[in-house]
Amino acid sequence: MNVGIITIFPEYFEGVVKTGMIRKAIENNLLDIVFENPRNYATDRYKSVDDYPYGGGSGMVMKYDTLKQAIENARAKVSGPVIYMSPQGTPFHQAYAKDLAKEEGFILVCGRYEGIDERLMSIVDEEISIGDYVLSGGEPAAAVVLDAVVRLIPGVLGDENSLSEESFEHNLLEYPQYTRPSHVDGMDVPDVLLSGHHGNIARWRLKERLKRTLVKRPDMLKDIHLSQEEKELLAEVKKEILETLSMLGV
Ligand code: SAM
Repeated sequence: MNVGIITIFPEYFEGVVKTGMIRKAIENNLLDIVFENPRNYATDRYKSVDDYPYGGGSGMVMKYDTLKQAIENARAKVSGPVIYMSPQGTPFHQAYAKDLAKEEGFILVCGRYEGIDERLMSIVDEEISIGDYVLSGGEPAAAVVLDAVVRLIPGVLGDENSLSEESFEHNLLEYPQYTRPSHVDGMDVPDVLLSGHHGNIARWRLKERLKRTLVKRPDMLKDIHLSQEEKELLAEVKKEILETLSMLGV
């Protein structure tokens, strides 16, 4: 996959490309990242990439010409959608990450200041927000999108099975995980996980996924089509919760 990142702060990504899974994906030729800095296309002596907003108001706006040139240069090397990182964009989620992982590539445009000249939207295909808050620049948002997508590229993670039960797969959160030691600070690993009985472990994990989702993210259960086994497990979970509540007198 080829990814273009348009940023006036390419140094922000120095740690990102040298760390963990993204570093490995680059080393294994599964990922190539092209950086384009709008400042390189500025022609004035101050290398300006921003200017005052028409109509007045506080802050500066990223200029059309330098940003457009950077995007077009990236486009010559990277195919796929041009995506502007924006608090006004479509909320980013796992299904979006999966769709992007199927692309040959994409270009992430990092805004700064008060944002970009609106006319640049004529060359932007999509807008992504990573949450309902305002960052000072698109770089952290681009790093989030890059990480979430790259781990879904076939071959990037050692064990692709690990993706199939992760949070948001089948609209459920992941089950609890434990590692050695089996006893620590008075707390034990659930017996079933030490039993070696694969069927019981799978059933316990599915039940825990349903329980966690019901407790932490009940909204996710609205859009799920439950199998017969899942319906039965969810009924067990509900019964257990009600029993606990009545035991507590709540
Ligand atoms: N004035 C803009 C507004 O109110 O919509 C916010 C500009 S923000 C200070 C600067 C840049 O940070 C934006 O151009 C965008 O690229 C990026 N950004 C800020 N919050 C973001 C978010 N939640 N998701 C994605 N990008 C974000």
